[in-house]
Amino acid sequence: MSHPRAEIVVDLDAIRHNVAGLRDLVGVPTMTVVKADGYGHGMLEVTRAARAAGSDWLGVATLDEALALRAAGDSGPVLAWLAVPGEDHAPAIAAGIDVTAYSTDELAEIAADVARAGRPARVQLKVDTGLSRGGAPIAHWPELVAAARDGERAGRWRVTGIWSHFACSDEPAHPANAAQEAVFRDALAVAEAAGLRPEVRHLANSAAGLLRPSARFDLVRFGLASYGLDPAPGHPAPLDLVPAMTVRAELAMVKDVAAGDGVSYGHTWVADRATTLGLVPVGYGDGVPRHASGPGVRSAEVGVAGHRSPIRGRICMDQFMVELRPDVGLLDGPQRPGRGDEVVLFGPGRDGEPTAQHWAEASGTISYEIVTRIGGRMPRRYLGAEPAESAGSA
Ligand SMILES: *Cc1c(COP(=O)(O)O)cnc(C)c1O
Repeated sequence: MSHPRAEIVVDLDAIRHNVAGLRDLVGVPTMTVVKADGYGHGMLEVTRAARAAGSDWLGVATLDEALALRAAGDSGPVLAWLAVPGEDHAPAIAAGIDVTAYSTDELAEIAADVARAGRPARVQLKVDTGLSRGGAPIAHWPELVAAARDGERAGRWRVTGIWSHFACSDEPAHPANAAQEAVFRDALAVAEAAGLRPEVRHLANSAAGLLRPSARFDLVRFGLASYGLDPAPGHPAPLDLVPAMTVRAELAMVKDVAAGDGVSYGHTWVADRATTLGLVPVGYGDGVPRHASGPGVRSAEVGVAGHRSPIRGRICMDQFMVELRPDVGLLDGPQRPGRGDEVVLFGPGRDGEPTAQHWAEASGTISYEIVTRIGGRMPRRYLGAEPAESAGSA
């Protein structure tokens, strides 16, 4: 393979460590959420690692994502939760994927697709307990439950799950959490009274799974935490998570600037003294957020030879500049990095490099977005990969 300009390195041992640790912690089955190409880590590679580490379920947003898991040989439980009007559920039903219904209209579409799928569907019902996003509003819940029970009696499907999703789980003390959990328990009682006996009842995502034991029910949907990132910054997780993604490149150039020199488009940063800069050969065309340029709150930093180097001036489409040692200024002799020296944009943080969480804070966003959007032209390389034949699962 040719020498990469920059690359994403994904540590599958870290994924396995996180998935196994999360399962041990919660003591109930877990779902590893691998939507959006495994939060930017590579859906299929993450899936194999997660299954090997004992993940019982996989969760994805779209039916296409679920079908891609089957095409790659995964045959275990998979839930998809976002179909669009008119989308054909038949291939997913035929592949034994659990589909989600938010409304009686959606159930009617699934009913029509069951006929062509040639087998009964596995349907999970989503109730809106207060996020006000997808799912049946509480006022429509009894109607959805009744229609689902009718279809189950008619042999069109089995209702395999009932679930909901939190709005504020990253703020454990937020009153919405207890309120949503109470609404969820009421919704389960309505379903039970109507005769539904789902295999799994689930409410918690990463933050709630870690920080709110009462919300774990039969299954916890772990997305971000599986990748080793902290879903609730400021609220320490009760286990050690290891970030799986490192983004690295090599300095394409090292140069000195004089006091008064403006750097990059718009000269948003002007050197106040002579100093040494490095050229990092990735930019927003690779998913590096331009918002991380500063001079807002604080610019993001990269790691070079164990030192933090702040971004100077605007991040461009393909490249940006960093100040190599702001604590020193002009560098010469052995302290001076050279062309080809490694630059770590973010990683696990073990060697002093920034983390995705640092980039999120510098960009006014969350680490979810940092890892999910990074990529563009960068190839991914895997550490700790198993042989490809081990694809698939129980
Ligand atoms: C993305 C998603 C998750 C995973 O959330 P994390 O905070 O990453 O754990 C769980 N459930 C639903 C419905 C989602 O859309």
